[in-house]
Amino acid sequence: MPQKYAAGNWKMNGLVTDLTEVLEIDKGVADLACQTVICLPATLIYAADGDPRQTVEIGGQYCHPAASGAHTGDISAEMLAEAGASYVITGHSERRTDHGETDADVRAQTEAAWRAGLVAILCIGETLDQREAGETLSVLMSQIDGSLPEGATAENTILAYEPVWAIGTGKVATPDQVAEVHDALREKLGPEMSLLYGGSVKAANAAELFALTNVDGALVGGASLKAADFVPIAKAL
Ligand code: PGA
Repeated sequence: MPQKYAAGNWKMNGLVTDLTEVLEIDKGVADLACQTVICLPATLIYAADGDPRQTVEIGGQYCHPAASGAHTGDISAEMLAEAGASYVITGHSERRTDHGETDADVRAQTEAAWRAGLVAILCIGETLDQREAGETLSVLMSQIDGSLPEGATAENTILAYEPVWAIGTGKVATPDQVAEVHDALREKLGPEMSLLYGGSVKAANAAELFALTNVDGALVGGASLKAADFVPIAKAL
């Protein structure tokens, strides 16, 4: 059985004072069977990983393929791991769009994550144009072929399906749309890998998504910033 995950992505949000929300999330999910991960801005990781009793795991949002070097402004997987991260998002569509990251880049970042002992939360997703052209599954399969390295296992990788048109738009994919994609992903990736859905997940729509056979949790953006929004999503798992 794949591990169930409630994963949050804070994106470029949060100052040290906001870490009280991580503490609240930790309290709220302590007795749940799912694993909770909050992917924070790099500046917050060290401070967020302080308490060994914490059940919430901490993640980064990006890592450079290299372990160190002349890459001004970048951060390596080793640095994230040393700061206290156990996970890192790779291939988020905002990185693909804002920074021109290609499937080959995402593959190299994912390998870097593994090298540093991090679990990669690898994101794929189609645009609205691609969906309307009937290309959804072929786009997703080609993203997987291009960005998922050889050696991916359920222990080192979580796959997150995030339709680009559903991210931060309030437009969640319908259960039928999610089921079609996740069933195809299960077929391709085998029985053990955790498959998360992301894109405008909220407490109000989480339960019907989590009821789908091949949805093992969610990667949540906006609704992960406040414990009051995020804990009910984790509980719906
Ligand atoms: P959203 O973001 O929940 O705010 O739509 C999801 C994501 O980008 O991971």
